[in-house]
Amino acid sequence: MKVGVLAFQGGYAAHIRMLDLVGIESSEVRTSRDLEDLDGLILPGGESSTQLKLLSYSGMKEEIVSFIKDGSKKIFGTCAGLILLATKVVSPSQESFSVLDIRVKRNGYGSQLQSFEALTDKGRAATFIRAPRIEWVDETKCRVVDTLNKEPIMVCKVNILGATYHPELAGDSKIYEDFFLGLNQL
Ligand code: GLN
Repeated sequence: MKVGVLAFQGGYAAHIRMLDLVGIESSEVRTSRDLEDLDGLILPGGESSTQLKLLSYSGMKEEIVSFIKDGSKKIFGTCAGLILLATKVVSPSQESFSVLDIRVKRNGYGSQLQSFEALTDKGRAATFIRAPRIEWVDETKCRVVDTLNKEPIMVCKVNILGATYHPELAGDSKIYEDFFLGLNQL
């Protein structure tokens, strides 16, 4: 199992550290050649609008979308990464890869000052930084994996997992084992 981390912008290094910790081979992804030998891909947090621009300019957007749509790869989007995956993005509205059937509101908890740490309803450590809020989930296509005060914060659709927060900053390496290695059912 080799997992790439999209390394255009944002918090990719901390994901690499988590993958190292649980013994999953990893690499930074900047070109289409970097995608060639991967079984999975992490879309990190950062600034989704900037990431979108960089992906479009570099021509990598289409490559990433077809990698995701391949269906045999495991995809994990955190925070800005989740925003890229969503079918609908509001506040402000923004284009996206449209592969995870949810509506997200950007900066849904407020500004950087309203960033916080919490335990999820299932006891996972979570760091929320200018996090989006999932306003709607198409439950015919996606499963809510975890919540915060009953509100969805982690959603799964077959091979795609998205979280509104940063497990890599909260030190939750277990989610990488459970999702990428399939150690436990999410
Ligand atoms: N608010 C950012 C955005 O809209 C996401 C923040 C994050 O990834 N920590 O892209």
